[in-house]
Amino acid sequence: MNIFIMGAPGSGKGTFSSRIKDEFNLNHISTGDIFRANIANDTPLGQQAKAYTEKGLLVPDEITNKMVADYLANLTDKKNGYLLDGYPRTLDQAKAFEQMTKGTDLAVDVVVAMDVPFDVLTKRITGRRTCKKCGAIYNIYTTPPQTEEICDVCGEPLSQRKDDNEESLKVRLDEYAKNTEPVIAYYEEKGIVKHINADRGIDEIWSSIQEALKN
Ligand SMILES: [Zn+2]
Repeated sequence: MNIFIMGAPGSGKGTFSSRIKDEFNLNHISTGDIFRANIANDTPLGQQAKAYTEKGLLVPDEITNKMVADYLANLTDKKNGYLLDGYPRTLDQAKAFEQMTKGTDLAVDVVVAMDVPFDVLTKRITGRRTCKKCGAIYNIYTTPPQTEEICDVCGEPLSQRKDDNEESLKVRLDEYAKNTEPVIAYYEEKGIVKHINADRGIDEIWSSIQEALKN
C-alpha cells in the first residue's frame, strides 16, 4: 500500500505518520530526506538541486519529481509500500508523479488528508509555549500554565518559537490552501482520498486512520 499523507502545519501529520509507518510496515519518506540523500550521495539530481538551494531558490518541480520517483524505485527494502510526507506539494507535481508511476507498483493507492479547521490550527500553533530550562510544553489555550507565561515546574518564563507567530503561520496556511488543497481535490476526483477529522483526541483520530486504511 502506497500512501500520501497531507495536512496543514499543526495538523498532527508527523505524529500519525510515525504510527502509520509502524502499524502497516511502510517506508516513511519525506521530501527532505530525499533531498538530503541525493545531496549527500552527490547524484546528478542532487548536484542540480544544490545549485538552486545554494542560491536560496526553490528547486524546480521537474528535479523534485525525478528525485522522488528515483528514490522510490531504488529503495532496496520495499516493505509493504511507502508513506510519503510533504509531496506532492503542487498540482503540477501530482500530475507529473502520476505520469511517472502510472501502472507501476509505485503508484499511490491512498491519500490521507488530515482535516483541521484553520482557526484550530492557529490556536494550536500560536498558543504553543515551551520552557527552555526543563523542556515542559504548554498551550496557552488548551493546557495553560497556572501563572501566565511561567513554567509550572521550574518557574522560568516560557518562550515561543520565532515561527509560531500569527503572521508567519498565515503565510504557511495560505501556501497550503493555494497549493496543496488543489492536490487533494485532484485525488478526490480519483476517489482515493480518506478524510480524517483531526480536530479530536489522539485515540479517536488514530482509530479513524486505522479504519480508513484497513478497508
Ligand atoms: Zn520549566
